[in-house]
Amino acid sequence: MLNKLVFVINCGSSSLKFSVINPLKKEILFFGLAEHFHNKNSYIKWNINNNKQKIKFNSKTNHKIVLNYLVEKILKKNLFLYKNIIAVGHRIVHGGEKFTNSVIINKKVIKAIEEASVFAPLHNPIQLIGIKEIIKILPKLKNKQVAVFDTAFHQTIPETSYLYALPIKFYKKYKIRRYGAHGTSHKYVSTIAAKMLNIPFNIFNCISCHLGNGSSVTVINKGKSFDTSMGLTPLEGLVMGTRCGNIDPAIIFYMNKQLNIKIDEIYKILTEKSGMLGLTNITSDFRYIEDNYLKNVEIKKATKIFVHYLAKYIASYSILIKNKIHAIIFTGGIGENSILIREKTIKKLKILNFFLDKKLNNEIIHGKSGLISTIDSIPILVIPTNEELMIAHDTFKIINNQSNL
Ligand code: AMP
Repeated sequence: MLNKLVFVINCGSSSLKFSVINPLKKEILFFGLAEHFHNKNSYIKWNINNNKQKIKFNSKTNHKIVLNYLVEKILKKNLFLYKNIIAVGHRIVHGGEKFTNSVIINKKVIKAIEEASVFAPLHNPIQLIGIKEIIKILPKLKNKQVAVFDTAFHQTIPETSYLYALPIKFYKKYKIRRYGAHGTSHKYVSTIAAKMLNIPFNIFNCISCHLGNGSSVTVINKGKSFDTSMGLTPLEGLVMGTRCGNIDPAIIFYMNKQLNIKIDEIYKILTEKSGMLGLTNITSDFRYIEDNYLKNVEIKKATKIFVHYLAKYIASYSILIKNKIHAIIFTGGIGENSILIREKTIKKLKILNFFLDKKLNNEIIHGKSGLISTIDSIPILVIPTNEELMIAHDTFKIINNQSNL
């Protein structure tokens, strides 16, 4: 049953994550990361059968070079992988309004991904390079490529959630609206949560908190995304590692007109120099933040602000659920590991019947999944996200339906 493997490719702006997965067995046979492209510190590291390897690259490294290396130097030398790959799944950051689900990649899809690049200029063009390179280096899989969009899961959110109160032509003509992000992760963890609680997904209601370098909260009603904190781009919403989240938009005007900061520099400030890094002036790394919470006043203050935003979102989203809330889910590097953030956030939500079991909260870290709430609480779950597995699963499903046609 090996010949059912999916090659999963996740091209970031200067990195590439990859894996080969058996979706039926939920088995990850090969995975790794190449990062710091166009930089002398670039490298690739991978793991096959628990054998770890790491190789330094040079400042010429880019997505094409890494994909070629992966196929020629790793996959072709591990024929049990190479021969059994039946499809390639690509993570695509932005699908605009066109995609409500994952799709087989063809010329039309490539054009639509190109069109949505205006909303994700750092990601979509790079992800298209990934798609086009695979056609060259793995021609037998040319028509077996699937695009899995971060935005697709959120295409069910209603107008009341996705329209901004701008003149309506900015939506109608320019498609400026809330698209959200982390859809693959929210879909994956909520599907697992419904299974854990033995509730059919089509009646499952929850609030999913993906807390990582980028963070977002999504409210899911009857198995469908109903509102989400990220907006037109992943800058809106929660306080993040280096992104500001919600601010008064007039601050941008003030910085530009009164402080003479150029618009490109303002964008850089909001995306790369704000959030926890901006507030602490030290770090965006929650491991450091957690270790120094009691020692450093600025870190304590920034953490309280992070928690304040998060609790506010969870509380306001809980009124959007029409019937019973079945669970809150924590995922992402912080959600899966930060005992502190989970404790401080849940403490603020007692009025909504969320109560933390401190012992369980201390135990469920480092890749474990499980309940961290008391018996009288609405269930609070920690579920490690696995976007790669979700991409492999969607790819496999779609490729098989196609071959059944
Ligand atoms: P992600 O973007 O999902 O990889 O998450 C990255 C974030 O998770 C960073 O802020 C990390 O500091 C944080 N993180 C990872 N491991 C831990 C940990 N053991 N404790 C607290 N935060 C962690």
